[in-house]
Amino acid sequence: MSAASPPLVELAGVTKAYEGRDGGPPVTVLDGISLEVRDGEVVALLGQSGSGKSTILRLMAGLTQPTSGSVLAHGAPLTSINHRLAIVFQSFALYPWLTVQENVRVGLVQRRLDAAAEDDEIERALALIGLTGYENAYPKQLSGGMRQRVGFARALVAQPEILGMDEPFSALDVLTAENLRTQVVDLWRGAGHGGLRSIFLVTHNIAEAVFMATRIVIISSHPGRVRNVIVNPLPYPRDVNSRQFAALVDQVHAAITALVLPDEPAERSVAAAAAAAAGRAAPAGSTPGASVTAAAPARVETIPNVPVETIVGLLEILEDSQETINVFDLSARIGREFGETIAIVKAAEMLDLVDTPKDDVFMTEVGWYFLAAPAPVRKTLFREAIMKLRLFQILVANLAAATDHRIDADELLEELGSLLPYDQPEKLFRTMLGWGRYAEIIDFDEHANKVFLHEAMTGDDDEEPAEATEDRA
Ligand code: ADP
Ligand code: MG
Repeated sequence: MSAASPPLVELAGVTKAYEGRDGGPPVTVLDGISLEVRDGEVVALLGQSGSGKSTILRLMAGLTQPTSGSVLAHGAPLTSINHRLAIVFQSFALYPWLTVQENVRVGLVQRRLDAAAEDDEIERALALIGLTGYENAYPKQLSGGMRQRVGFARALVAQPEILGMDEPFSALDVLTAENLRTQVVDLWRGAGHGGLRSIFLVTHNIAEAVFMATRIVIISSHPGRVRNVIVNPLPYPRDVNSRQFAALVDQVHAAITALVLPDEPAERSVAAAAAAAAGRAAPAGSTPGASVTAAAPARVETIPNVPVETIVGLLEILEDSQETINVFDLSARIGREFGETIAIVKAAEMLDLVDTPKDDVFMTEVGWYFLAAPAPVRKTLFREAIMKLRLFQILVANLAAATDHRIDADELLEELGSLLPYDQPEKLFRTMLGWGRYAEIIDFDEHANKVFLHEAMTGDDDEEPAEATEDRA
């Protein structure tokens, strides 16, 4: 291979937007993605759930088209399905009514072989992946690990140049996953099997990326953008217990942490600057949010999709651990994916309940106070914390100005969509509602499909409570 030859597949300045639900504004999932898979590489794509990883793989496979930018295969625009790339999915994706052999045969359609040649190919692939003897079994008779092997065999018989894998090991138990990862790496290193040259691996498992990849690409979420590219120089076979392996895992962890939990949170710094510029401080006791409408527009930050109980759970763990805990240890401790853990920490940090210098997490004064407080006080503290977020300030200001302090949920979804075009408004709405209900700021009338201001927030006690007012819309 020469450095001058074009990549096997390449995304050049790709933006991808999906249509909004119910005619809502489109959601931009990927923004300006430039990313290539070269001959001989194993590229791992790391990103949080919902960051657009599967979409990138589908673009490379020609299963979906970019909104702008281009997808190239060997330097030429990809105009249909990319037959040089075969995908192994996380969910096995086998036909339950077909045997193992017949399932694998599906991967051969493009090659137009005669029946005998097909049988040979299938036999070879099954042997390679350790499934000899199971030709006539049905998927439901196999363990998860074996089903996933069938998925690999089906991808391999297509003799792809690139093996595309979408979290292929995440549904497997630890040992099976380890075993299969090694086999896939060996297969690629063994080179020449049916022309397999490169691997494109979508994952959210950092150790997996370090174990398999020659290059690790980290994307951010909302929208997906390439943020880091880390070359992995470790020789194969890789030793997961080596110091070098651990160092590289740390490096990737640190890159993701810096991305998701920057030491200087975006919104707070902008909002603080705006407040300072306007020379104002929110007067105590005023209707929260009322002063905000006049302020210079600061950037609105989204909130992670994390329920209140989970945030409280995090604080309880921090209380047990007594002091600072490293995010990676925390992730192991609570038995959640690193990406999930970091979302929980991020939520707690936005509420000032924890602080995160570098990759450590510790409870703030507010956090300790919150934990020690009885339920009603917790609610008050939570309310104060979320009312510091632009998103809730805007919501409350809008509700305060609305007739009866009620707004149609669809209207709100539309507003959320335009405030945060990279978010899914329904998901965001559900999270906001969870937080807002706990804080007794807002509530939702499912029947009338209206969000309304909690009575404690309306500021005029002698008026009828909002929930009791009749819906005049
Ligand atoms: P990942 O694989 O990183 O979890 P995906 O590529 O599956 O992310 O999805 C990225 C975002 O795009 C998600 O918010 C998802 O809900 C949205 N999305 C994916 N496919 C579609 C689709 N066909 N229509 C609308 N939205 C979609
Ligand atoms: Mg995915």
